[in-house]
Amino acid sequence: MNTPLIKIENLSFKYPENEGEDKKENNFAVNDISLEINEGEFVAILGHNGSGKSTTAKLMNMILTPNEGKIYIDGIDITRPDMTEDDIFEVRKKIGMVFQNPDNQLVATVVEEDVAFGPENLGLPPVEIRRRVNEALSIVNMKEYARHAPHRLSGGQKQRVAIAGTIAMRPKCIIFDESTAMLDPIGRKEVMNTILRLNKKEKITVILITHYMNEATLADRVIVMKNGEIYLSGTPNNVFSQPDKLWQAGLEVPQSVELIHKLNEHLDDKIPLGVYDFDKCAELIKDKIKI
Ligand code: ADP
Ligand code: MG
Repeated sequence: MNTPLIKIENLSFKYPENEGEDKKENNFAVNDISLEINEGEFVAILGHNGSGKSTTAKLMNMILTPNEGKIYIDGIDITRPDMTEDDIFEVRKKIGMVFQNPDNQLVATVVEEDVAFGPENLGLPPVEIRRRVNEALSIVNMKEYARHAPHRLSGGQKQRVAIAGTIAMRPKCIIFDESTAMLDPIGRKEVMNTILRLNKKEKITVILITHYMNEATLADRVIVMKNGEIYLSGTPNNVFSQPDKLWQAGLEVPQSVELIHKLNEHLDDKIPLGVYDFDKCAELIKDKIKI
């Protein structure tokens, strides 16, 4: 069996502001999570606001340090006490992160300089920096904007530049923390297509934190968090076949699932719940009502 890229064991975290309060009140932002993510996987994390998704991401990226538990990246324990600044830098190179607001992530006044920022910090030779910047911008389809000013771009384009900056570090995994939440539908689609390409073509492991169910249906695996814990986990089909549990966690379900669930209330011979596109959904309903 291969070593998982990320292995989390009994991870717990409480924000210092919440220290000293009664543990029984469950004020742990992340509460005893165990989880493995394999190289090349595309994992979606769902959960109501405040369920601990961002905190989990920040623990994996070493922005936060856990109170309890272990995290192994590529088999290396990143929660050991003797981690140096250099070790932390190595972790951040392997596990990149893209956040919600593209405006907060762009630092330079020209797109290509922005993308070069990370590789420059790695102390790479200029030829190698140039190669990585060009490569990263073509992967996100933004090469023609290399000399543009980031603040003039659309939200989706800005977010793709931020993704290019992360790719230029050659990470094994990228965590997207609601990276499409502030975008219009076109921008959201551009960014989702980019994320899918990174996973399928560039073989980058993807962790997608989202509240869009249709984005989560594209993943290999869906993890649902609730009150700092893992509440559900499985394939999209498996997770979305349990609409009652998702509603209990304050989440929506894909529209096709909701429709079939409602229709099943009137049917003796139920249609199996699952993630279907609208064509498949229509076909299943048509068969049932014998048009
Ligand atoms: P999510 O990303 O799922 O919305 P978070 O991981 O941001 O959830 O938050 C988990 C819990 O931790 C929530 O109860 C939230 O209020 C709390 N929390 C988040 N950030 C901070 C912070 N900087 N200081 C104190 N509490 C925080
Ligand atoms: Mg969050």
